[in-house]
Amino acid sequence: MNKSCISFMLCALFSQTAFSSNERIDSLANKVETDVIKWRHHFHQNPELSNREFKTAEYIANYLNKLGLEVQTKVAHTGVVAILDSGKPGPVVALRADIDALPIVEQSGVDFASTVKAMYNGSEVGVMHACGHDTHAAMLMGAAKVLVEMKAKLRGKVKFIFQPAEEGAPAGEEGGAELMVKQGVLESPKVDVIFGIHINSQTDVGTIKYRAGGIMAAVDPFRITIKGKQSHGAYPWLSVDPIVTASQIVMGLQTIVSREMKLIDNAAVVSVGSIHGGNRSNIIPNEVELVGTIRTLDGDMRTHIHESLTRKAKLIAKSMGATADVVVPDGYQYPVTYNDPSLMAQMLPTLQATAGKDNVILTNAVMGAEDFSFFQQKIPGLYLFVGGKTQSTPAEQAPGHHTPDFVIDDNGMKLGVRTLSHLVVDYMNQDNTTK
Ligand SMILES: [Zn+2]
Ligand SMILES: [Zn+2]
Repeated sequence: MNKSCISFMLCALFSQTAFSSNERIDSLANKVETDVIKWRHHFHQNPELSNREFKTAEYIANYLNKLGLEVQTKVAHTGVVAILDSGKPGPVVALRADIDALPIVEQSGVDFASTVKAMYNGSEVGVMHACGHDTHAAMLMGAAKVLVEMKAKLRGKVKFIFQPAEEGAPAGEEGGAELMVKQGVLESPKVDVIFGIHINSQTDVGTIKYRAGGIMAAVDPFRITIKGKQSHGAYPWLSVDPIVTASQIVMGLQTIVSREMKLIDNAAVVSVGSIHGGNRSNIIPNEVELVGTIRTLDGDMRTHIHESLTRKAKLIAKSMGATADVVVPDGYQYPVTYNDPSLMAQMLPTLQATAGKDNVILTNAVMGAEDFSFFQQKIPGLYLFVGGKTQSTPAEQAPGHHTPDFVIDDNGMKLGVRTLSHLVVDYMNQDNTTK
């Protein structure tokens, strides 16, 4: 029983069963905490790169088998999927953890730091869990243990999805959530809702950050090829200069976000990340290539930016006597990580009861991306951030994700295990028939 529950006198609304369920989940999460930390340290010391999570998958599958779950391996190369069947009719609720590490040499100084090396795109690299996916795998194993013990209180089925390659498959390979979806991970049994959490190195232990709607951006790469006419650099009047044209296009693109996007509704980004053309000082080349990224949190804004970027590039080029070929590949590189607003409203009280009302914080969206979005493209889902920063460390001193100094406080994981478990039990015991 938590204090806010008592003080707001909401307790009367809950049945005795709900009460004892909540307490039981928390005591089971306490009991499994030592194991969760042990598993996390094991994964941290034995990190594996995207699509190469062979040992990680084996370790997870062994444990899930021991729990008596129906386990499937080699899903989307190295993924592990397990089903817990309550034996009673009800919804199918999926929980997802990503399990891959990054090509980074660890310098965190923790006593379970990685010294692992591996080959990545043809060269040897250090391998480190520098995004916290070691904690994700461990927390989901912990939640599996809790939910197996809670089986009598469940309705329907829980699908545990341990997903490889969230950080992106190696060049030339498919992988991650997109491939899992393609291989039917959301079918048989058909999943109704999916929940996922990301530990965060700059968010206090004990807190959850949430947002309804877009919480992480959609990513679309673009490529603009500008064709002009080559000449000697001393005789520019004989050229159609693609470098000057490219410069004007780069400046023109700046007004898409600043003049055409209603930024009070949602953020958007257009960034040019690379310009290539020419090879020496006294030749005006005939071609320049621009490559960039578009980040959006809203489908209409995304469509508008694609249209506007193409129009501006082509017409600016035309005004210079050049041509611009614009390619924005069809289909998302990553869709918006979009938290279904009605599901968010439905489950917010669960988050508040789990972490305490003051510890559940509405957050701004971020312009980074997450492939959990491929699941949410098919079914309603929630993606949340859970704190992994020791409270005594100032947020600005906490190393960011994907850096060699990245650290996560083990104490943050208990809330993750509790959150995943409470979301499943509460969702299963609510009336979802109208959805
Ligand atoms: Zn990452
Ligand atoms: Zn991550």
